[in-house]
Amino acid sequence: MSTDKTLIRGAKVLGGDQQDVLIENGTVAAVGTGLDPEGATVVEAAGQVLLPGLVDLHTHLREPGREDSETVLTGTRAAAVGGFTAVHAMANTFPVADTAGVVEQVWRLGKESGYCDVQPVGAVTVGLEGKQLAELGAMADSAAGVRVFSDDGKCVDDAVIMRRALEYVKAFDGVVAQHAQEPRLTEGAQMNEGPVSGELGLRGWPAVAEESIIARDVLLAAHVGSRVHICHLSTAGSVEIVRWAKSKGWNVTAEVTPHHLLLTDELVRSYDPVYKVNPPLRTEADVRALREALADGTIDCVATDHAPHPSEDKDCEWAVAAMGMVGLETALSVVQHTMVDTGLLDWAAVADRMSFRPALIGRLSGHGRPVSTGEPANLTLVDPDYRGAVDPAGFASRSRNTPYAGLELPGRVTATFLRGKATVLDGKLV
Ligand SMILES: [Zn+2]
Repeated sequence: MSTDKTLIRGAKVLGGDQQDVLIENGTVAAVGTGLDPEGATVVEAAGQVLLPGLVDLHTHLREPGREDSETVLTGTRAAAVGGFTAVHAMANTFPVADTAGVVEQVWRLGKESGYCDVQPVGAVTVGLEGKQLAELGAMADSAAGVRVFSDDGKCVDDAVIMRRALEYVKAFDGVVAQHAQEPRLTEGAQMNEGPVSGELGLRGWPAVAEESIIARDVLLAAHVGSRVHICHLSTAGSVEIVRWAKSKGWNVTAEVTPHHLLLTDELVRSYDPVYKVNPPLRTEADVRALREALADGTIDCVATDHAPHPSEDKDCEWAVAAMGMVGLETALSVVQHTMVDTGLLDWAAVADRMSFRPALIGRLSGHGRPVSTGEPANLTLVDPDYRGAVDPAGFASRSRNTPYAGLELPGRVTATFLRGKATVLDGKLV
């Protein structure tokens, strides 16, 4: 019996009609009803939703340098569990991914993992220091074929450097992904600036620190005729600026994280550092604006900003705790909870926001493709009726810093296929 032949039987493709999908030699060989299972491994999928493999534009895999929090192997295993077949690995590693050598190293580690494709993001500036452009062309021309450049974790705050980066990436159809945070306005910031920070006496991170950089950067992108992508939008004002830029026809895209679609700064009252993240959790009104913007397409995609940290960096006082949350293994459930079960998005739109769009923005080939004959079999099977509490002890990630521990969330990835090979089956890593 051939093992490279799989029949997914009776799945709702993109949430539509039930169909069989035959996978052969890494490719979708047929889509239809009553397909012949002869010689194939059969995956019974009645009642489940089949999506194109999810693509994350914003993942921190931590290798090289912080293997105590995550490695390319553990991070890609977490990605597969979450239904991802490709992730973009952010450049803020040690050493920083600011040369062809480092991005090729990360790219090669991804190839060896076999769980998920890893597309390295290149740093915009040398050492993420914001002073001197990194060798963007060399990273683009490397085996890793970098197209997304970001100093994420830090903002490219110098307008001249940002302008040069935007001009430079045009040569190879690249994009600059900005972590929008005006540094002077956020010095020592601990949480969202507002009534809650006032009550708690914590230094605030004002919305304007994000919005002012986004406003500047969409204008710069328009000025030089280049592409800019805004990382982790978190405020209603940011949504308005992106909406305005898009109405002008400028080449601006944006992402939102699952946690900014669900959680608010009220949670900081607990002083539990699991809620400490950058950009910070905002208000109920911001959450509402972000959900609406993802629904109407102003925000192009969901990106996890998966940010693993070891317990010693999180289980400590709020003031000294590291910022960030893991997100790969819970992203789809949070999106189902906030966007699908609320009626804001159907599954076809989830496929758009979590696969088609991010692959297009990252110029990734072979991912974010329709579920149809001849396409690479990068697929995710979801059971939307599943309900279960999040148990961090069961995570494939090396880190446990999730804000959802014990929370009941809907949906579960039951199978993930990377070029036809199951990386997850029956909800478990293969
Ligand atoms: Zn960031």
